[in-house]
Order: sequence, then C-alpha cells, then structure tokens
Amino acid sequence: MSEYRYNLITNRWIILAAGRGGRPFDFARRPKPSLPDYDEDCPFCPGHEQKTPPEAFAVRPADTKADSPGWSVRVVANKYPALSIPPDTPSAIGGLESRPGHGLHEVIIESPRHNCSFNEHETQQALLIGRTLRDRYRIHQQNPHLRLISIFYNHGSAAGASLAHPHFQLIAQSMIPPRLTAQLEHHRRYYHQHGRRPFEALIEAELADGSRVIASQDHFVVLCPFASEVPFEVYLLPRQNQNHFGMITDEMLDPFLRLLRQIINRWNEGLNHPDYNLVFHSAPADGKDYPQFRWYVQLYPRLNTPGGFELATDIYINTVSPESAALFYRSENKFPSSPC
Ligand SMILES: [Zn+2]
Repeated sequence: MSEYRYNLITNRWIILAAGRGGRPFDFARRPKPSLPDYDEDCPFCPGHEQKTPPEAFAVRPADTKADSPGWSVRVVANKYPALSIPPDTPSAIGGLESRPGHGLHEVIIESPRHNCSFNEHETQQALLIGRTLRDRYRIHQQNPHLRLISIFYNHGSAAGASLAHPHFQLIAQSMIPPRLTAQLEHHRRYYHQHGRRPFEALIEAELADGSRVIASQDHFVVLCPFASEVPFEVYLLPRQNQNHFGMITDEMLDPFLRLLRQIINRWNEGLNHPDYNLVFHSAPADGKDYPQFRWYVQLYPRLNTPGGFELATDIYINTVSPESAALFYRSENKFPSSPC
C-alpha cells in the first residue's frame, strides 16, 4: 500500500511506497573510502594555501601568517564560485529575464586533515567548525546586498562534492528563491489560521506520537520527517524559535554538533558510508521579520537518485517509511534524551 504524505514544514507532498524498497542493509554499497591524511595535489591540504584564493578567515596561532600552514579551520572564497559580485551586466537576453549573479561563495575547510570527515572530529575541533560557520553567517548577514545565506555540506560525488578534502560551503545571494518565498507564505498563513507555528505544531505532534523521533533534548528535537523525501532523511529542529542559523547560542553549539556527528556515524555504521548532504535552512537575512519560520538542518543521505517522476511532479517517492528509519537510528541507543 502506498500513501501520499504532506510535509508541514516544506508544504510539499511525497509518496510513501515502503513495499518497493528493502531493509536498511539493502542500501549497502561500499566500504569506507580510503583516503590519505595528506594529498599533495589537494588545494585544501596545508602547505598549498597559495592554490586557493586568499583566506577570508582562519583559526590559527597568532604567530602564523595568513595563507600559510598552522591553521585549524580556514575560510576562502570558492575558486569557481556559483555567484560573485560582478559589474553591472545586461538584465535581459532576447526578452528573457536575467540578472547579474550577485552574491558570494565561500569554502570552510574544516581541518588540515585530508581524510577526517566532519563526524570524526573531536569536540574541540567540531566547536571551532561550528563557531566559524555561525560567525560567517553573522558577518554576511550584515551585508545589505545579501538576502539569503545558505550553508551546506556535500560529502561524496553523489552529493555533489568535487573535492574530497572535507569542507562546508556557504553561498550568500541577493535572490530569495520562489520556493522559499512560497514556503514562508505557507508558514505565515498557517500561523494566522491556527494560532501557532508549523514548527511548533510539528514538534508537538511528533513528540506525542514518538514513532519518528530519534532524540529529544533541551535544545533540539531530531526526527525522521513524516513525509520524508528520501530513505533515512532526518530533520534537526531547534526548540527555540530562532529564525536563522546565526542565532544559535554557544550553549546550543555542542549538542547541535554532537547530534549531526551521531547521525552521520549511524549512516556510516548501518548504511555503509553513503554520500550525503547537510543543508542548513534559514529565513532570509534581508532585514525583515519572519517570526513564523525557524532554522533547521536537513540531513540527506544519497542512497538513491531521484528519477523522472520526481522531475515531472516534484513529488518524491520514498521506499523506506520514516517510522522504520527512526527505529534504525534508535536501535543503537546513542541518542540520549535530555539532559544531554
Ligand atoms: Zn586535502
């Protein structure tokens, strides 16, 4: 039996067709990729700082120079940016609308180690990465020309990664995508109809039901969304009503980073090191208030590839129920509930 399910956060539908897929180990594909600690051809490895654009920020000892080894976390502009800040260019091509690709694109190189993925870092290094992400968000938020700041992590070629050295990316752009505009309008309308935010309604319903909840802590709720787009998708939701990621507090950073790493570790153990994306969703940073919206992280293992139906309809067919996915996450009992 298949069913349509509605996602209250994205305002989109999916088809759950659990009978079509298999058990978790049916997705197993490969052993852990073997990478060296250092790669002489990698522009992100220490000693190769001249192969990247100049660093915009780095965590490094005071007695070391910019663009030299010694750093713990390093932020540089993307050498091949999706967006840049160009001079004015024509805004129409043959009558079809066009705009300058205005924005910026940064790479946050999370450690000097070529083969140390985000989930493998110790607490201290993870905190350096988390603070850097938050601080970059806050800095770009001050730029009045940038209206949306997206942070994401692509791990593996199926997730869009082109360089193996682990790194987050940040794209800040002047455009707010129509899909986000529609999502914000959905949240606003829901609030006025129901007197509470979709995030509040969702968290309340999920905690009451419990079958899709992975962890419930002081600051965060982690769950498999009722209308998961892909097998083993996870939402990491803050309990506080914070509109954007820049609002995460120092106190929240450590549990936040632990939960991210625990989910990835569970993927690696149980799903055989899949490629994956981490996507940080935030309200626009355009100076307006979005009191009904809340930042959250979507954790998205790349176990299958969307096909023609998804392209035709924007409705995903998911073959693993979020209820069985949540059981998979909880089975190792590595997600302590409050206090964390
Ligand atoms: Zn490297």
